[in-house]
Amino acid sequence: MTGEWKKRTTAVHGGTRRSQYGELSEAIFLTQGFAYDSAEAAEARFIKAGEDEFIYARYGNPTVRMFEERIAALEGAEDAFATASGMAAVSGALTAMLKTGDHVVSSRALFGSCLYVLEEILTRFGVDVTFVDGTDLDQWRAALREDTRAVFFESVSNPTLEVIDIRAVCDLAHAVGAVVVVDNVFATPVFSKAIAQGADVVIYSATKHIDGQGRALGGVILGTTDFIRKTVEPYMKHTGGSMSPFTAWVMLKGLETMSLRVNAQADSALALTEALQGHAGLSRVLYPGHSSHVQHALCTAQMGKGGTVVSLDLKGGQPAAFRFLNALRIVTISNNLGDAKSIVTHPATTTHQRLSDDQKAALGITPGLVRLSVGIEDPDDLIADVKQALAAAS
Ligand SMILES: *Cc1c(COP(=O)(O)O)cnc(C)c1O
Repeated sequence: MTGEWKKRTTAVHGGTRRSQYGELSEAIFLTQGFAYDSAEAAEARFIKAGEDEFIYARYGNPTVRMFEERIAALEGAEDAFATASGMAAVSGALTAMLKTGDHVVSSRALFGSCLYVLEEILTRFGVDVTFVDGTDLDQWRAALREDTRAVFFESVSNPTLEVIDIRAVCDLAHAVGAVVVVDNVFATPVFSKAIAQGADVVIYSATKHIDGQGRALGGVILGTTDFIRKTVEPYMKHTGGSMSPFTAWVMLKGLETMSLRVNAQADSALALTEALQGHAGLSRVLYPGHSSHVQHALCTAQMGKGGTVVSLDLKGGQPAAFRFLNALRIVTISNNLGDAKSIVTHPATTTHQRLSDDQKAALGITPGLVRLSVGIEDPDDLIADVKQALAAAS
């Protein structure tokens, strides 16, 4: 039935399981264990657990299952496995499917911890990783090989907001039989059509827009039932990166309001981008949902709206960027994104500090670049705050 609902309905009702009490709001089954009626029943469940039968919370839990079913229906995926954080989802999905000798092609513009997993951890176990500029299809074509097992990229890169063509990369990857894993955080489940566009596996850090209110870490791996149950579940349930029932409840409640929040955030991000066009203190205003962005057409075709993050490059470099951050009154200095509260980050000195100057330059992370995650405050107040802080910075 959920397959026939539109996204906003699915986000409120998908996956709901009610106990004998008929509670309206989703119940938190805060239990790690489950009792059996008899020794025979315990034996039977270990042989094969049915739909509503659970063994141990690291393997599954009714509240966690509700979250998995709701987000899977929303994404148009057959199944999902919920994880303790976004990084548990990224590292879990990749490690579960890869082995020594496999080849992976990844875009270079990655969230710092994703880059660490690919560059430092997988290579330690003999996985060969080739990095490409994700927006350059010729580089993907040149890097893909007969032995390429997986392709990994962030569909919209952090913090320079380059859009990677999911359909085009999937076509190239599938031609050599590679599995395409998309970290889709910046697209958000609201704007994502990644599975329909060819992605095999979609990953979210639920910490971002799914919670959207800065409370809990979480993540999710979405894919076919075969991949989730035969490849991901055995790995995750034995290595311990499962989501807690309390977190799943927070994320379920987050999904209910996600579409309203994320659409309002994207509309405000566009309004802010428009208000800053031609500003004397800025050399770049990056927002893929605005017609000034080089990939605006691709963004519109792939996501509809441009997401909730705007990046600004201040002409005065790092000193101006720091003055700007310090002058903001509503927008808060922090490194989360997708939150109801607007947040500003200076990537070069925080999230991307670990990179060399050359790596930063190659990724467009200039000293004046700031990443602004637009919240749900009134857009007029946000625009006024950003403008007064730009005036103070110049
Ligand atoms: C935040 C983020 C992650 C990691 O998520 P956590 O929940 O912090 O572990 C991975 N990828 C992207 C693109 C992110 O923004």
